[in-house]
Amino acid sequence: MQTSDVVIVGGGSAGLTLALLLATGEHSQHLSIQLLDQGPAPLPQQAHFQRVSALNLASKRLLEKLAVWPQLTANPAYQRMEVWEADSFARIQFDAAELGHDALGFIVDNEQLRQQLYARVQQLPQINCRFAVKIKEINAGDEQNLLQLADGQMLLAKLLVGADGANSFVRQQLQLPIAFWDYEQHALVATIRTVESHQQTARQVFLPTGPLALLPLADPHLCSIVWSTSPEQAATLLALDTPSFNQQLTAASNAVLGVAELVGDRAVYPLTMRYAKQWFRQQTVLVADAAHTIHPLAGQGMNLGLMDVAALAELINRQLAGHLPLAEHRMLRQYERWRKSEAQQMIAAMELFKRGFGSQLKLPKLVRAVGMNLTNQLPLLKEKIMAAALGNSGDLPQLARPDVIKL
Ligand SMILES: Cc1cc2nc3c(=O)[nH]c(=O)nc-3n(C[C@H](O)[C@H](O)[C@H](O)COP(=O)(O)OP(=O)(O)OC[C@H]3O[C@@H](n4cnc5c(N)ncnc54)[C@H](O)[C@@H]3O)c2cc1C
Repeated sequence: MQTSDVVIVGGGSAGLTLALLLATGEHSQHLSIQLLDQGPAPLPQQAHFQRVSALNLASKRLLEKLAVWPQLTANPAYQRMEVWEADSFARIQFDAAELGHDALGFIVDNEQLRQQLYARVQQLPQINCRFAVKIKEINAGDEQNLLQLADGQMLLAKLLVGADGANSFVRQQLQLPIAFWDYEQHALVATIRTVESHQQTARQVFLPTGPLALLPLADPHLCSIVWSTSPEQAATLLALDTPSFNQQLTAASNAVLGVAELVGDRAVYPLTMRYAKQWFRQQTVLVADAAHTIHPLAGQGMNLGLMDVAALAELINRQLAGHLPLAEHRMLRQYERWRKSEAQQMIAAMELFKRGFGSQLKLPKLVRAVGMNLTNQLPLLKEKIMAAALGNSGDLPQLARPDVIKL
């Protein structure tokens, strides 16, 4: 039977980043790390931008320190952001230059990010990655966790990390309770070509059925869209022939970039808020989507997950520096308190946005239009909102902190 210091279940962006952080930490070079994933290993590929994430400055700083950022060949930056409400005068704009930044965020291809993280992981001998692995059962003991694999192998882990996404098997095996609610929206994602140039501006229009985001890619006429709408409309949009879809999309985006045309496939994801009430038990801990999922309207899910793993790695590194146990209850509690508070704030903010823009009654519409336009004229308030979105405020892990924190 093989014993590892840390077993990470899940080789998505969170699991792979954690493996890298642990293997390159100041005091953790001698840790033995196993990463298990049920899916195939990430394959070297060009960025297709089918699934993208808007990453903030905190995530960029973290990935830079892990030497992964420069390898992401096309990570287009956006300098401006425009948010408005369809059929009202509510509008707000953010400009990186006005706020003293080079960019407000970066659009990263999810699969390319995974592939580059994996390429770095493969250079580190203390990480052993296994793909296409099925875990049958997890037995949590007071000292170690026992993992039984479907092929009959057994593994022992001093610390087990559940980085296995929204429907976490680890969370279920450990019976860690979750709170959840259905956002009653599905997100349709696709790449589109537009007649007008996007001018490196991320745009989001709030429609009566939900937000439609247009995220600028490296080509000035290509955008990735996240169209959150009712499950019924999402199914209809998915089934529409391309010319009809293009028509609906152009109308929904107020033709802000002229006529829009679909490039490639469409995919739909149901949207659910999930929040683990307990993030650890015995020697097992949850990170990223395994611990929380939020509405994609502010593009913060992956950013939040990357900060979880940076926080956990920082605390583990401190344990090792002090020759303390790897999975000490006190440390795991500290991690839980730290990251739960950040996740809760984000969940609350998403709810405020979603409910705030949900009502089609005349008075709430007027109030939010006035509120948004007023905010647009208040530079200090705008700076505060952006500092949070950029990952320049809050209790950041050390590796993600800016040299000078701007509040
Ligand atoms: C439509 C949409 C748009 C989004 N846009 C943004 C955005 O702009 N910005 C942003 O920050 N976030 C965004 N997000 C959120 C972001 O995509 C997720 O937060 C992020 O991908 C989660 O990463 P993860 O590593 O936790 O989980 P995942 O990426 O789900 O990875 C989990 C891994 O675990 C493996 N796994 C699962 N079960 C098992 C098992 N039983 N055994 C072994 N392995 C297992 C899987 O194969 C997978 O590799 C968006 C989400 C959606 C749905």
